[in-house]
Amino acid sequence: MIFRDYGQTGKKVSLLGFGGMRFSHVDDHEECVRMMVAAAEGGVNYFDTAPGYFETKSEIVFGKGFAELRRRNLPYYAATKTFKTTESDIRTEIEGQLKRLDIPAIDFYHIWCITSLDNWQDRKKDGILQTFKKLKEEGLIRHICVSSHLIKDEIRELLMEGVFEGVLFGYSAYNFQTRQEAFDAIRARKLGAVVMNPLGGGIIPQHPELFKFLHRPGDPGEGTVAAALRFLWDHPEISVTLEGFQTLAQVQEALNAINGYQPRTAAELEAVKARADASFEGICTGCAYCDECPQDIPIPQFMDAYNQKLLNSKPGVDPIADRLKWHWQLDKSIAGKCVSCGQCESACTQHINIIERLKEIAG
Ligand code: SF4
Ligand code: SF4
Repeated sequence: MIFRDYGQTGKKVSLLGFGGMRFSHVDDHEECVRMMVAAAEGGVNYFDTAPGYFETKSEIVFGKGFAELRRRNLPYYAATKTFKTTESDIRTEIEGQLKRLDIPAIDFYHIWCITSLDNWQDRKKDGILQTFKKLKEEGLIRHICVSSHLIKDEIRELLMEGVFEGVLFGYSAYNFQTRQEAFDAIRARKLGAVVMNPLGGGIIPQHPELFKFLHRPGDPGEGTVAAALRFLWDHPEISVTLEGFQTLAQVQEALNAINGYQPRTAAELEAVKARADASFEGICTGCAYCDECPQDIPIPQFMDAYNQKLLNSKPGVDPIADRLKWHWQLDKSIAGKCVSCGQCESACTQHINIIERLKEIAG
C-alpha cells in the first residue's frame, strides 16, 4: 500500500480508500465486515461513509467493521458527512453517527455536498463553521472537511476559504478537465484531497474505447480500470482515491492494482491529459469554455447530463433528468431558456451541438 499525507493534519492515509456507498448486500453484515477487514489487511486505512448511504445502513455496517478492525489491531480513519446546517440539527446528527459508527470521534467530518456558492453562503449564515469548530474543540470531530460537485473557479473559491483541512470531490479520467482549478487551492492551502467516482460512475469500464488515451504506449496488456486508477494515483496532490466496493472480489482487484502500480512522471501525465480531447469526440469534457451563457444556463452541467444519456443509460432511468436532479440539483426546464444565440457552440472545444441538445432536454 502507498500512504500519503492528508494535507497538514499529520495523518498518513492509504492512497486507496474504502467507500461505503455501493455494498451489494448491505444487510449482510458479515460479508460487508469481511470486505472491510480484507481492505484493512491490504493496508487501506481510510473508510468513507455518509448518513444517506442506504439510509444509515452503511454507517451501521461501518460501526461493525470498525469494531472488528479494533479487535484485530488494524488501524483505520473514519470519514462521514452531514447535510445539516444548524447547531442543534448537527448535534443530533452526530450523536446518531457516533453511535452507529461505534467510535468516540469522527476523524474527517465533511460539510456535505456544497451545490453552489450561494448554497455555501446560506450554510454559513446558519453558523455551520462555528458549529464545526466547536465540535472539533470538544473532540467529537478531528478534522473539518468539505465535499462538493462545484467545478472550475467556483471549487477553487470554496476551497480557498481557509477553514477546511481537506476536500472530497469527483475527479477521474472522464471529468478531469472540469476540476483542475481545485488543485490550485489544494496546493495553496495544503489540503488533503480525496477523490470519489474514480471510474466516472461506471462510464470508464463501460467504454474502454474512449479511454485508450490512458494507456502507456506499448503496454496493451493494461486494463482500462487499472489505467484509470493509475491516472489518479499519478497526481501527487491526491491523498486518497475512494472506491465504492460492491464485493470482496472488487476489494482484492483494487489491492492488486495498487500493489502493481508504477508511477509516471509529471510530463507523462500531462501528455496523457493532452490526448484526451481527441478520444472524446462528441462528448462534453467539462472544459467550461462555453460557460458564459447570457441566459445563465449552466451549460457544462447540462452537457454532462447529456453525456449520461450517451454513455451511462440504465433501464428505467431517465439519465439526463436523473443526473440533473441528483448530481447537479438543477431542473431540466432551465434548458428552455436558451435563445439560440450560438455563443456557446462557437466556444465549444468538442464542437457539440449544444442548442439541439438543450432543446431535447427542455422537451
Ligand atoms: S445558444 Fe443558448 S445556451 Fe448557448 S449561449 Fe446562447 S442562450 Fe446560452
Ligand atoms: S459543452 Fe463543449 S465547451 Fe462546454 S464544457 Fe462541454 S466540451 Fe467544454
